[in-house]
Amino acid sequence: MLIFRKPIQGIERPQMEADVVIVGGGPAGMACALRLAQLIDAHNAKNPDAQLSKENIYVLEKAREIGQHCLSGALLDPRSMRELLPGFEKEAPLDAEVSEEAVYFLTKKGKFKLPITPPPLRDHGNYVISLNKFVKWLGGKVEEAGITVFTGFAGSELLLDGDRVTGVQTDDKGVDKTNQPKSNFEPGYDLKAKVTILTEGPRGSLTKQLVSRFNLDQDRNPQTYGVGVKELWEVPSGRIAKGRVIYTMGWPLTSKAYGGAWIYGGKDNVVSLGFVSGLDYPDPRLDPHRVLQVFKEHPFIAGLLEGGKMIRYGAKSMPYGGWWAIPPVAGEGWMILGDSAGFVNSQRLKGIHLAIKSGMLAAETAFQALQKNDFSAATLGTYQQKVESSWIKQELWKVRNFHQAFEHGFWIGMFHAGLQQFTGGRGLRNRYPGKPGYQLMKPLSQLPPDGGNEAHLLGSYKGDGKLTFDKLTDLYHSGTKHEEDQPSHLVIHDTSICEQRCIKEFGSPCQNFCPANVYEMVDDSAAPNGKRISLNPSNCVHCKTCDIHDPYQIITWVPPEGGGGPNYDGM
Ligand SMILES: Cc1cc2nc3c(=O)[nH]c(=O)nc-3n(C[C@H](O)[C@H](O)[C@H](O)COP(=O)(O)OP(=O)(O)OC[C@H]3O[C@@H](n4cnc5c(N)ncnc54)[C@H](O)[C@@H]3O)c2cc1C
Ligand code: SF4
Repeated sequence: MLIFRKPIQGIERPQMEADVVIVGGGPAGMACALRLAQLIDAHNAKNPDAQLSKENIYVLEKAREIGQHCLSGALLDPRSMRELLPGFEKEAPLDAEVSEEAVYFLTKKGKFKLPITPPPLRDHGNYVISLNKFVKWLGGKVEEAGITVFTGFAGSELLLDGDRVTGVQTDDKGVDKTNQPKSNFEPGYDLKAKVTILTEGPRGSLTKQLVSRFNLDQDRNPQTYGVGVKELWEVPSGRIAKGRVIYTMGWPLTSKAYGGAWIYGGKDNVVSLGFVSGLDYPDPRLDPHRVLQVFKEHPFIAGLLEGGKMIRYGAKSMPYGGWWAIPPVAGEGWMILGDSAGFVNSQRLKGIHLAIKSGMLAAETAFQALQKNDFSAATLGTYQQKVESSWIKQELWKVRNFHQAFEHGFWIGMFHAGLQQFTGGRGLRNRYPGKPGYQLMKPLSQLPPDGGNEAHLLGSYKGDGKLTFDKLTDLYHSGTKHEEDQPSHLVIHDTSICEQRCIKEFGSPCQNFCPANVYEMVDDSAAPNGKRISLNPSNCVHCKTCDIHDPYQIITWVPPEGGGGPNYDGM
């Protein structure tokens, strides 16, 4: 029987008081912490008699080490970093400055290079980075500035007092598979905070609780997502120059699905490559991990990788919905930053600079609240105004309708995207509506049994072990580890839906969209359709795809015991 993780009830929990708690130590969380420390230092230097303390400002990060759960492409637009730490280029881990970019449209065997790189994909001035290394470095600055980063601690529940967010409860440690405390049990803390800042990345679990509690998605477009499946390769010297950037569109996707690939040349002949599949494709049998494998078989890509070796693997979702999908970002005692809010420019495949800028603006707001000792929605709400009068809005406003335009396929999307380019993002109307991606998934009865022209994208992939890999081989290269003896952190609210309806209507798509082989339908003669759902939670790479994309919305991803998850060293 499956048993799902939930906080142990009816126990006394240690209490801890904080001024500010930042949940999530990615670029947004770390930038927020650092900017807050800078502001407090500057204030204290000028006001010896009215000092503010940094002692009670905490960052909670579920990974065992800073940056371990950070995965991105990544190209860094340096705009916000130059504001946060002028001259950061001299010391930050930057692999290369972009020297050359190209965009290709791929057919099954051929390629067509766009004569001009579309302006959103011009990357001169940006840097190739490993987000993992970059966040480790930034986290070091935060600690040097005197702010405590608790690694291996997840925020697992929001604490509320009426309509006010009053902090978070951290994860219980030492709970066995049946949800019973073990001898090493340590209850999670009630971390009471004047300001709670949610910066958990895409589809944050506490952010989801907050959005649902206060209906923050009312009147907004639904958030939509893509999932990026990534590999790092070591290639023969000189094959892909440091700083070379390649984007592709087309094959292996058909015009029915949204997505594309990137290849970034880093230092020491290490190349980042990956494929982002929009989580709004129609065929539930499509497997985003397989999409990347088939992509690598294209003669152009296979040629680039020939003689090379895959060294790391991972996957992560990113929000695509744009400006109209961003919820209110501040209220009584809380603020939301970075990907958790949806600050991503999906046209440019970039969100790091926006995450950092949002972190800075939230820090400025929290600093004003600390000075005034006022943590009300009126004070914290000025973060919303700061975002709206900053270049975050300017950038996102110009692409506010971009992803929605592709809801009816690639070619119609390209038409609208072209129109939007000349109308400041407007296109045919100011606000294009959107649908959550899982609603666009079609039941099997409406699809060709053999997959038609998408047959090559469907189902799991075996791989040849050299250029292409099955999921488990790839997963091994993600360094994923969890405490095995703990309840499942993938919470399925009604498994009878999996076994009675989903298996027949959609063919159990969780088996396909999960890039880490967590979900399996196994033979069971006692189950209504001869199969029951089985989970391998220890494989989970925390990409959140299942929480986002299951067609019945019955899966909730909750943080497992802190410290577990992938090890995205160098990713
Ligand atoms: C495949 C892919 C490619 C991308 N390429 C680029 C690119 O080239 N350039 C670019 O600018 N952007 C790119 N992006 C987007 C970019 O990575 C994100 O916009 C950026 O990382 C967002 O930063 P963040 O701090 O908001 O979230 P994240 O980077 O997701 O960090 C969130 C952190 O919070 C932690 N966390 C989550 N929940 C909890 C919890 N409950 N308790 C404690 N800790 C928690 C996580 O472990 C993580 O460390 C890409 C994204 C993907 C997925
Ligand atoms: S179980 Fe869900 S969050 Fe974990 S790897 Fe699979 S799809 Fe991603």
